[in-house]
Amino acid sequence: MPIRPGVDALLKELAVNPDEEPLRVRASQLLARLGRHREAFELLRDRFINLTAHDGPTLPCLCRRCLQPDLGHAHARDMDFARRFVVARGRVLYYWAPLELADDPGLARSVGARLSARLA
Ligand SMILES: [Zn+2]
Repeated sequence: MPIRPGVDALLKELAVNPDEEPLRVRASQLLARLGRHREAFELLRDRFINLTAHDGPTLPCLCRRCLQPDLGHAHARDMDFARRFVVARGRVLYYWAPLELADDPGLARSVGARLSARLA
């Protein structure tokens, strides 16, 4: 089943409205789901400060210095993980989500709440 609206339509819309933050975030989330991780990362890079703490070594670190743009999946402790992110107030927090929960809105909400609490 195709994801609507399509990512190309979103990117076109974003090219016309580069300051539309929610649109930028939606396009980036969709790119990440499609496995286009570098593009997803690049959409956010210059607009959101990466607040992810330096971490490791079980999973690849996602902090500002270590994050590898192309690395959208990881495997650790017999589990597969997908890279996801949440944004709030011009900040982005990247995290590794267990693959089966990667697109669970509940998980994104709870990570988002953590980010908002940190910024409060
Ligand atoms: Zn790091």
